[in-house]
Amino acid sequence: MTDQSETRFPLTPNASPLPASERAEKLVSPGFGRVFTDHMAIARWSDEKGWHDMRIVARGPVQMDPAAAVLHYAQEIFEGLKAYRLEDGGVGLFRPEENAKRFRRSARRMAMPELPEELFLASCRELSLVERDWIPEGEGGALYLRPFMFASEVFLGVKPSAEYLYIVLASSVGAYFKGGAPSVSLWVSQEYTRAAPGGTGDAKCGGNYAASLVAQAEAIRQGCDQVVFLDAAERRWVEELGGMNIFFVFDDGSMLTPPLTGTILPGITRDSILRLARNQGIAVREERYGIDQWEADARSGRLREAFACGTAAVVTPIGKVSSPQGSFSIGNGGPGERTIALRDTLVNLQRGRAEDPYGWLERIGA
Ligand SMILES: *Cc1c(COP(=O)(O)O)cnc(C)c1O
Repeated sequence: MTDQSETRFPLTPNASPLPASERAEKLVSPGFGRVFTDHMAIARWSDEKGWHDMRIVARGPVQMDPAAAVLHYAQEIFEGLKAYRLEDGGVGLFRPEENAKRFRRSARRMAMPELPEELFLASCRELSLVERDWIPEGEGGALYLRPFMFASEVFLGVKPSAEYLYIVLASSVGAYFKGGAPSVSLWVSQEYTRAAPGGTGDAKCGGNYAASLVAQAEAIRQGCDQVVFLDAAERRWVEELGGMNIFFVFDDGSMLTPPLTGTILPGITRDSILRLARNQGIAVREERYGIDQWEADARSGRLREAFACGTAAVVTPIGKVSSPQGSFSIGNGGPGERTIALRDTLVNLQRGRAEDPYGWLERIGA
């Protein structure tokens, strides 16, 4: 355990922060990813110096040369985690060391320098405390932290960059879906896949999202909320959504989620749900699940519930699945009991309202 009181990212305060009254207005209904705080954490890496120049400064544009490598070859990775306001007035981070580890794994896959976990954690903790007044009140309110790193070397040759910029943004967010957790509808992408064996599917990189957008746009055109991807080799096995993992709940009480075979992003929410469910004595299989089986089980009633999960949207019930061959619904098309129970258990842990035998909630600040 590193000393949390030590400052690793010295603060240069924003000379003209948003006045409190204007901040309060923005926090009434922040939506997702549009309201940003006054500061950002920043660090640089170069071949010669390694990690250096850590600081927290006023949030603002970054100067970038048009030949910066990221703009051409997309060498970029990111993370997403939330800082919560706890009932005792403190601030909590949920399993941030898992994000720190995943950030290092993503960096390795993208031939980028690994940010030491202590620096990742310090940047998130220190920025969260500086910006604690930006955490919206109320259920679903949180400060969404977006650590990311990109290749900043000015060079058009194809090789790993010799310079990188690491930044953490903080964004005040409300519930991802307005009105709690309505169920979402999915479009099964048949033309596009998200990740191939040996590719970058298990790294959290911007390129995966760039590749998924055309499928997401197709889903919207088809009247669905989200796209669900099948595996690239057989176009049969359910993998995940564009940015959320998926779980299935059966009539015998058991659950299933696709296994981490390299083409699925290892979600921290996925891992938390697995452990919560197993701890409650629920049998959860990590097994492949075919799209044909999914439809057959939904039609026979063997499949009772399905939900998507991730940091941004937490746990989201899936009500309906469509493809060029037609549609089927899951259960009664609304949120299932198990889905809601698991979501509530998880949210209570994240907000410090439940006993935390796992030690998942990290309290920062009093
Ligand atoms: C981030 C992400 C998830 C969810 O991961 P969490 O750690 O639970 O937020 C799932 N799928 C993809 C593709 C992602 O990028």
